[in-house]
Amino acid sequence: MACVNICPKQCIEMKPGKLGHLYPAVNQNECIDCKLCHKICPENNGSLSLNYPLTAYAAWHKVESDYLTSTSGGAATAFAQYVLRNGGVVYGCASSKGIHIEHVRVASEADVVLLKGSKYVQSFIGDVYRQIRQDLNGGLMVLFIGTPCQCAGLRSFLRKGYENLYCVDLICHGVPSQELLKSHVGKVSMKRGELVQFRKGNDMGLRIFDNENRQIYYSNVWYERFKDAYYNTFIDGYTYRDSCYRCRYANPSRCSDVTIGDFWGLGDDLEHDNVNGCSCILPVTEKGAELVKNSELELHERPVDEAVRGNAQLRTPKAETGRIKLFRAIYRAIGIKRAYLLCETDNIFVLKFVKPVKRRLGL
Ligand SMILES: Cc1cc2nc3c(=O)[nH]c(=O)nc-3n(C[C@H](O)[C@H](O)[C@H](O)COP(=O)(O)OP(=O)(O)OC[C@H]3O[C@@H](n4cnc5c(N)ncnc54)[C@H](O)[C@@H]3O)c2cc1C
Repeated sequence: MACVNICPKQCIEMKPGKLGHLYPAVNQNECIDCKLCHKICPENNGSLSLNYPLTAYAAWHKVESDYLTSTSGGAATAFAQYVLRNGGVVYGCASSKGIHIEHVRVASEADVVLLKGSKYVQSFIGDVYRQIRQDLNGGLMVLFIGTPCQCAGLRSFLRKGYENLYCVDLICHGVPSQELLKSHVGKVSMKRGELVQFRKGNDMGLRIFDNENRQIYYSNVWYERFKDAYYNTFIDGYTYRDSCYRCRYANPSRCSDVTIGDFWGLGDDLEHDNVNGCSCILPVTEKGAELVKNSELELHERPVDEAVRGNAQLRTPKAETGRIKLFRAIYRAIGIKRAYLLCETDNIFVLKFVKPVKRRLGL
């Protein structure tokens, strides 16, 4: 959405494609052909530098309550608190308006809770890049946390470096669309879902809460693999945006100041809480390294290679296998309900037909 933010005529709208992901559409009647949208799109300009991390840390928040309420080790929360305590503002992903998942501006520590937790869906950026530029030009310290492509979009939109900006990206293996999430929540919860939560530490549970914060739905993808089709197909990489399968940021070299994720593959020489999660922190710039050291985190230095070996998304994007292509072809042609059938590997009837259908479609 860098193009939407840069457009001087504000004539670019995000419209859903066949799988519900958003794509820019230019209103040609309003367009003045300035080509700014093309110039700043990180997909079109390959000039954004990617840098290899300076080091790696296994880490967790020093405050237990913050640690226990975060997805991995609470690194994102610790960075946000540091910036807010120093008079800055934080932009991150919240599910504050029902299950509409979007990036918001947080200016007080009490609101950091809005950003906690991974939302396994494409977050809506809105006009956040423009708000960030305004804050940066006003001299505020700004922290932006998002997927690598969102960080690349922000850097590209800004068109110059800012000393007062910290950019933190997530190790990311791809995003389903909000359209898909909304239809799923409608189907699985009897009452209207008001808030979704995807996981806490190693508990890969999809939870839906009502407007009085009562949990009205729960499914854990590790224990009941095929109960929740949305979560199951997310984990196995069926429902991502097309661009995720050729993501140039799924790479050991990174586009931000700091990269965070789970420390998969962490050696057992380091004693840590295996149940509630552990952050992998990769400082990439000197400024990022300072942010890490100044935050309220227990840090254990590790070789970068250990993090890269343990986490496939630090090496390569999710491969679009023949089966994934078939799923997407069915989804596009006749809808998600039939496509989901393909992922229930227990379904012998479906499996019997996978190979011949794939052959016919040339996949
Ligand atoms: C779509 C997605 C895919 C991921 N895939 C992997 C993976 O394959 N391997 C891995 O190691 N880690 C992955 N992660 C990262 C991991 O789940 C944690 O988000 C990360 O470790 C931060 O945890 P924390 O405890 O530091 O932060 P928390 O306190 O849990 O905060 C999460 C932070 O992530 C941001 N965020 C949450 N959802 C989104 C979103 N949809 N879009 C943009 N920003 C968001 C919030 O702004 C917040 O700052 C993924 C995250 C997302 C959102």
